[in-house]
Amino acid sequence: VAQTSDNTPIVQYRPEMLASCAEYRPDYNELKLALKNREFFLVYQPKFDLPSMQLQGLEALLRWRHPLRGVVSPLVFISVAEQTGLIAAIGDWVVKAAIMQMESWQRQEGVYVSVAVNVSPLQLKDDGFVARIKALLNLNGIAGEFLQLELTESSLIEDPRRAHTIIAELRSAGVQIALDDFGTGYSSLAALQTYQLDYLKMDKSFVQKIQTRQGRSVSHAIIQLGHALEMRVIAEGVENAEQEAALCALTCDQVQGFLYSHPLSADQCLAFMKQSGSPDLFAVEEASVAS
Ligand code: C2E
Ligand code: MG
Ligand code: MG
Ligand code: MG
Repeated sequence: VAQTSDNTPIVQYRPEMLASCAEYRPDYNELKLALKNREFFLVYQPKFDLPSMQLQGLEALLRWRHPLRGVVSPLVFISVAEQTGLIAAIGDWVVKAAIMQMESWQRQEGVYVSVAVNVSPLQLKDDGFVARIKALLNLNGIAGEFLQLELTESSLIEDPRRAHTIIAELRSAGVQIALDDFGTGYSSLAALQTYQLDYLKMDKSFVQKIQTRQGRSVSHAIIQLGHALEMRVIAEGVENAEQEAALCALTCDQVQGFLYSHPLSADQCLAFMKQSGSPDLFAVEEASVAS
């Protein structure tokens, strides 16, 4: 750690360094003001194909730059946003910010990367949800294939008919659907089988246990289940090479975690993508230049 002349440590700011204050719970007015004052921002965590380790896409993760508390974790404020109904406006902002970022990377940098956005179950209750996403994609000239939405099991079980309709509409626009934190929710296998989903995201709690005999068997079962349901399986929260080796041996399709990269600011992420040597990110531009 670097130090000043009087031995005060200089800690370089990194976007993943979040203010940790367990008791802090913002209220409606604070969150509403944060939205108005543009205090929210997105960080991006890369996802990679196994075993090629080609960069496959990014996950957008929400942060709140609090004027006094520093950067606040979504774990602190998403639940408040959900309880107060503000998640509708915040969720809209997230989708818009992610799509505008993709637009900027595509037009200004020639970088064509897919971005996954987390969606709260409450956002699906809004009748205009799908139409607004399609409109934003259109307005920014972004193909639906570049957008991935991460839903949770509770999104599927509360109103299955509605969830089926919404997923079908999104997928027909090319948007990819991932089931996030799989294994921690309450969806039944019978219900899961009725959905057409592109990705199963195995929760990090399973990755953390993968080095035990039983943990490895459970991860194996989840990956096989995902493949049986014709989904690609991605493991989140990969922190060490042993976990990666186990996931690779169990034919997991993609990985994401601190082992590869923490969530990055948009600028840091652009630099990361440019030096990643993943030709796919630049393929669309090269194709259009060639023609
Ligand atoms: P999630 O969607 O499951 O995101 C993965 C979380 O794991 C992120 O935490 C990420 O920073 C963290 N993570 C990534 N790699 C590792 C690793 O190797 N080890 C460990 N221990 N953790 C890792 P984050 O950014 O604090 O987000 C927490 C949760 O907040 C997300 O979980 C998601 O459920 C929610 N969230 C984040 N952004 C949004 C958003 O825009 N909208 C909604 N509705 N929810 C969001
Ligand atoms: Mg997620
Ligand atoms: Mg997740
Ligand atoms: Mg998770």
